[in-house]
Amino acid sequence: MGSVRLEHVFKKYDSNIVVNDVNLNINDKEFVVLVGPSGCGKSTTLRMIAGLEDISQGTIFIDDSAVNDVPPKDRDIAMVFQNYALYPHMSVYENLAFGLKMRKYSKDEIQERVQQASVILGIKEMLERKPKALSGGQRQRVALGRAIVRKPKVFLFDEPLSNLDANLRVQMRTEISRLHKQIETTMIYVTHDQIEAMSMGDRIVVMHKGIVQQVDTPLTIYNNPVNKFVAGFIGSPTMNFFDGKLLLQDSLAFEASTKYFSLPIRSEIVQRFMPIVNSEVSLGIRPEHISAKPQNSHSQIVNVNVVVTEPVGNEIFIYFTIGQAVEQYVCRIPSDMQPQTGRAFDLYFDVSKLHFFDKTTGAAL
Ligand code: ADP
Ligand code: MG
Repeated sequence: MGSVRLEHVFKKYDSNIVVNDVNLNINDKEFVVLVGPSGCGKSTTLRMIAGLEDISQGTIFIDDSAVNDVPPKDRDIAMVFQNYALYPHMSVYENLAFGLKMRKYSKDEIQERVQQASVILGIKEMLERKPKALSGGQRQRVALGRAIVRKPKVFLFDEPLSNLDANLRVQMRTEISRLHKQIETTMIYVTHDQIEAMSMGDRIVVMHKGIVQQVDTPLTIYNNPVNKFVAGFIGSPTMNFFDGKLLLQDSLAFEASTKYFSLPIRSEIVQRFMPIVNSEVSLGIRPEHISAKPQNSHSQIVNVNVVVTEPVGNEIFIYFTIGQAVEQYVCRIPSDMQPQTGRAFDLYFDVSKLHFFDKTTGAAL
């Protein structure tokens, strides 16, 4: 078993609170990703779970035992870092065996575990090589292997793929996901890369300024972000935001504060917004929900100015402004369309995909 629970966990450096009242319940065998911008407290949280960092306040449980005072080596966890620091003078075999030797495992047991791990990771043919004779991806596999041979209750990963080039990163992502399915062990994975988080996590924990913003499955976080921060952080290109007001005339509509456009509110959700008529809100719409052709009965036409077009293969990102306003927005359209930069262009906003946020607190409405 390998469940992990954080109860009201804080980390303070002097008066600086870098992890602020974190509560998390990670199930046995789950793959949970902590994601957030640099400096939001991800590594510190992970290091407290590992025991590499004292906990200022609160309790961390592994399988229902409080581990605050348990030294790292007795927590039955293994950690993989970005700088995988293999011993250069040792062979791959020796690198994999090293931790087990230190823990006084028998020679046979070590041999068996190293063989097993090397099969799982596809590095069986490389056991006699030195790290310098390996590619970046192979080295990273050895680093994973060092964790696997210990058969820990919980794996902790701190941005393990950041040093790899883009192609290899994508490949290793898949490998780590496969590894998780194969060895069925709890994994807690830290990254600043929201695409990595979305593609790997059973659940995602979005952090910002030391505070957990939302914990849920990737799809729920994408579809129902609890606040403007999460909405803007998850998704690429990022969600577009417009300031404006909800006005009630013939029906309820969002009017941009620039007055250059307004969008009707779907009748199904009008009741929900009646209490906040006339208040300032922030409207959010993802680039993929703005299209060059009407997609459905919810499509609403908005005339825009095309500023830049950016082909990315199967689609084009269009950066545009609306009216005389300077703010720039973005949408994604199929690459067979060729809007001219510097020209006016009609786009279709899917009003069934709008998000609304409180102007002051950023909370989803
Ligand atoms: P992340 O991994 O999300 O990028 P970290 O957990 O490494 O963020 O750091 C969170 C915050 O804590 C940062 O503002 C960082 O500067 C601060 N911090 C980390 N370690 C220390 C330390 N030893 N002393 C003081 N501040 C620290
Ligand atoms: Mg970090």
